[in-house]
Amino acid sequence: MTPSESSPQAAIPSVDRVLGLAGLRDAVAAHGRPLVTDAIREALAALRGRLAEGKAGDGPTEAAIIADVLARLETLLRPPLTRVLNLSGTIIHTNLGRALLPAAAAEAMVAAATSAVDLEYDLGSGRRGDRDSRLEGWLCRLTGADAATVVNNNAAAVLLVLDSLARRKEVPVSRGELIEIGGSFRLPDIMARSNCKLVEVGTTNRTHIGDFEAALGPRTGLVMKVHTSNYVIDGFTAAVAEDQLAELCRAHGVPFVVDLGSGTLVDLARYGLPHEPTPAEALKAGADLVTFSGDKLLGGPQAGIVVGRKDLVAKLKKNPLKRALRIDKVSTAALGAVLPLYADPDRLPERLPALGFMTRGQSDIEAQARRLAPRFAAALQNIEVSVAPCQSQIGSGALPDKALPSAALVLKPAGASGRALKGLAARFRSLALPVIGRIQDEALWFDLRCLDDEPGLLAGLESLGTK
Ligand SMILES: *Cc1c(COP(=O)(O)O)cnc(C)c1O
Repeated sequence: MTPSESSPQAAIPSVDRVLGLAGLRDAVAAHGRPLVTDAIREALAALRGRLAEGKAGDGPTEAAIIADVLARLETLLRPPLTRVLNLSGTIIHTNLGRALLPAAAAEAMVAAATSAVDLEYDLGSGRRGDRDSRLEGWLCRLTGADAATVVNNNAAAVLLVLDSLARRKEVPVSRGELIEIGGSFRLPDIMARSNCKLVEVGTTNRTHIGDFEAALGPRTGLVMKVHTSNYVIDGFTAAVAEDQLAELCRAHGVPFVVDLGSGTLVDLARYGLPHEPTPAEALKAGADLVTFSGDKLLGGPQAGIVVGRKDLVAKLKKNPLKRALRIDKVSTAALGAVLPLYADPDRLPERLPALGFMTRGQSDIEAQARRLAPRFAAALQNIEVSVAPCQSQIGSGALPDKALPSAALVLKPAGASGRALKGLAARFRSLALPVIGRIQDEALWFDLRCLDDEPGLLAGLESLGTK
């Protein structure tokens, strides 16, 4: 293929000709003719465009066309998810996939995914079974509830509760709890979708039991208390205690529902962490139903869990919406592997990655940062590298005002230009194993609390040095 001076377009080979090139033989064997043909068509069209604009230099060479086709195939075949290193300082990061599962859960997922399982089949009677039944046993044991059911995520759990118990009825909620959680979970919108009439009670900063008393009436479907996950109302505030609200609801004969959001199954204080309300506590305080996520503090797969009164859970299970919101078998397997770990809270931090990250001590993280800092300094030119204390967030709305003391590698480009800093962050994100940090105080911060692959980080650093 030599460039033709009269018409560079004439130098473009046919699709068939390119398909027959030795350099693409392996690609055809691996991915099949149709996909490779598509990639060739794309590459040749792009080449035609560049030639028309006079931007193709000396014209196409075989090697250049093959390289372009292979690059396009790689893009086409890239999996939807790329593994990354989460050095953002947020442990349960919604945008990075939340809780990491223990190996036992991952094994259970593979087993459930690759063979037939008794998901809704009772091996004793040979009849249809209930997909929740085995999870239900563990959830009741761990929360003290009489019944439980599990759906796709906590947003689905809240939707199912509202739709099952309060359709076309009123739901009083404190104005201070009308939350939006990142990614468009807005309580008022979910209420509207469930055909509930939201009744705002009290004010943003102060809500009293009398406000609820005035709001309760014959049209009330349930009363909902929402854990204000991702923010804190501080200062001159008042919220109604759960046991008080529960008593009021009981007197009026309406269910009292608590949406805990994060919900952990152990008291985190036993690990020296800040206390986060548990479903068991909410039930003890008188909640009739409690909803929470499977993949936040619980450290399991994406799931929405509802625990509480048997008659109410039975209504949820009968709702046709349950079918649309149900948990799948792979997540069922994962949750089934995580819940029993809570039977032995002493060993939980070593078995549950999310809790392992949370309980990592600052001195351990700082020692790792000091060890890695010279490697970073050697690999990066014109970047000042230091180690500094920082604060990790638990994330996903848990304990938004309570940070965990941690340590970070702090990378500061010489001259402190914003562009150089953004460029540096982008270089780390473009690695084969992308590294996600956070930009703060004109520097790139890598909080090492969640670093679970030091060799991977160092390998990336090496390739960065040669870029
Ligand atoms: C996170 C959260 C939800 C949504 O849970 P998902 O599992 O993400 O669907 C709902 N309510 C509260 C209070 C939350 O914190």
